[in-house]
Amino acid sequence: MEDVVLRLEELLVPSIADVVVLSVDVNNETVRIEACCTAVAAVCPGCDDRSSRVHGSYLRFPADSPSAGRRVVLCLKVRRFMCGNPSCDRRTFVEQVPGLTRRFGRWTEGLRSTLTAVGLALAGRAGARMAGVFGVSVSRGTVLRMVAALPELEPPAPRVVGVDEYATRKGRVYGTVLVDVETRRCGARRLAGSLRLTVAA
Ligand SMILES: [Zn+2]
Repeated sequence: MEDVVLRLEELLVPSIADVVVLSVDVNNETVRIEACCTAVAAVCPGCDDRSSRVHGSYLRFPADSPSAGRRVVLCLKVRRFMCGNPSCDRRTFVEQVPGLTRRFGRWTEGLRSTLTAVGLALAGRAGARMAGVFGVSVSRGTVLRMVAALPELEPPAPRVVGVDEYATRKGRVYGTVLVDVETRRCGARRLAGSLRLTVAA
């Protein structure tokens, strides 16, 4: 039986440390996984101090990617810790499991990544429709918010820059534009006489 639970952990929460699967209940519509966190301490998000003083615990129910057409619900027992740092504003905080949960998250991180990828490929309305096909009920607005929450990539600094001038308003306003010669992207534009500087990626 212990082997079965270990294999279930590998299947259900792969590569995630400090989580133990306690039981799995399957019916026609749902796979319900009961699990708990086992880390001895957690890091306070307010001050980054570690604490092992447990204040209490409760259940969270983040939705996970469906399995064999069934909705997967994780019943995860998480603990609230007391922060021992007297200069920290947070008296208590809830542990998070890297790769599995985030604060106020309704989805596991795995399902969030899947929905974000769907949103990137199909955008809001079609993305929500596609998520419904594989068994996740989500609004188009939620899909768009997941895409918008992605960190912005810093464009690489241009190695070769070209400078050009242009005129608008029939030659009454002049501007200068900097262009990344290798990517042909406009880097910065300045209108003469107005000191207005716009940056375009
Ligand atoms: Zn703290």
